[in-house]
Amino acid sequence: MAGLVAAAEARRLGADVLVLEKLDRPGGSMRLSSGVIWRHRDFARFRAECPRGDEPLQRTLFERLDADLRWLEGLGAPVTERGTGNPLTTGLRFNPPALTEVLVRAAGGLRSHDGAGVVTGTPLLSPPDGAPLILATGGFAADRPLLREHVTREADHVLLRTAPGSTGDGLRLGLDAGAATGAGLDEIYARAMPAPPARIAPGDFVRLAQLYAAHAEVLNERGERFEAATWSEIDVAQWMARQPRARAWLRVPRARLDRLVRGRAVGAMVDAAAAAGAPVRRESEHVTVETVAGITTTLGGLRVDEHARAAPDLFACGADAGGIATGGYASGLAAALVFGRIAARAALGEAP
Ligand SMILES: Cc1cc2nc3c(=O)[nH]c(=O)nc-3n(C[C@H](O)[C@H](O)[C@H](O)COP(=O)(O)OP(=O)(O)OC[C@H]3O[C@@H](n4cnc5c(N)ncnc54)[C@H](O)[C@@H]3O)c2cc1C
Repeated sequence: MAGLVAAAEARRLGADVLVLEKLDRPGGSMRLSSGVIWRHRDFARFRAECPRGDEPLQRTLFERLDADLRWLEGLGAPVTERGTGNPLTTGLRFNPPALTEVLVRAAGGLRSHDGAGVVTGTPLLSPPDGAPLILATGGFAADRPLLREHVTREADHVLLRTAPGSTGDGLRLGLDAGAATGAGLDEIYARAMPAPPARIAPGDFVRLAQLYAAHAEVLNERGERFEAATWSEIDVAQWMARQPRARAWLRVPRARLDRLVRGRAVGAMVDAAAAAGAPVRRESEHVTVETVAGITTTLGGLRVDEHARAAPDLFACGADAGGIATGGYASGLAAALVFGRIAARAALGEAP
């Protein structure tokens, strides 16, 4: 998303832009996402939930998101829901394929890596003489060796609940160019997903998420228990990604199967996991679902300032830039939107 946003903003400012995408379709993880672009309602709450994040970056995101959402809507991106359904947050929900289409149009189209030129998501190319480069390659959630190095020894077992292009190209290029990593390179956002032998296609990443740790006993395969404490369940996800085989068992009292989590009944999520093929044990008082950590996005990355600058003439945005959600979770789409626009303006020498 961040690369398309940066390109759209750069074109609005009169720049000639060429967007290069390494996959055969645009949109990255944005296209697979739920499409909810949000911020905390209250800055103090944002700080409290993401305590190790860089405060100026967080402030920038918090202060700019509403105007950037209006800009996005102004491009013609259709809003499917106003509000997030969560009293702690505010934002808009977009239809991801439609959002992708609108952004590709505003970005002036895409080329494969064979094209000459530069601006976003292009670490395999060198920019033309002296042109700034914006890294927007979506972090490294799809790269098991990098996940093993930075996040978890259980990297071979996690589900890659992400677009396949996010293999850390921006991180490698940024480090080669003299940028540094920020805090929290080991942090990820993940979801409990139906465990193998469940079969999960990318189009099912949202539908099959098991979002009821708050109603369940959460156990690893040694029988050790984890107490979920956050509404986003980021704590559960970070924990389970590091448990043996990245597994957790969610044991739900039958009396809670009718509870709603973000509009979905717990029992319906359990049934969806069973239908996908996950091991589900049904007993008289409880239902237990075996789940695996589905790594969705990396939260750590290159260190950037409020102008998305990672090194001289090098900018990073979206999941390539770390330091925003460190210690908790904040909207990755919001970061991609706000810092994608900022990166374009900074790269063109425009006022932020
Ligand atoms: C199932 C799911 C649900 C989600 N739901 C939400 C949600 O509701 N709200 C939210 O805020 N976030 C959500 N997210 C997270 C969100 O999608 C990401 O945080 C966001 O897409 C990150 O934006 P990005 O631009 O950094 O990466 P992406 O959107 O993944 O874009 C990166 C692009 O760069 C391309 N690329 C990579 N390497 C290269 C290269 N070398 N050359 C050229 N191109 C390259 C990739 O192929 C990709 O197209 C969800 C993610 C998933 C997977």
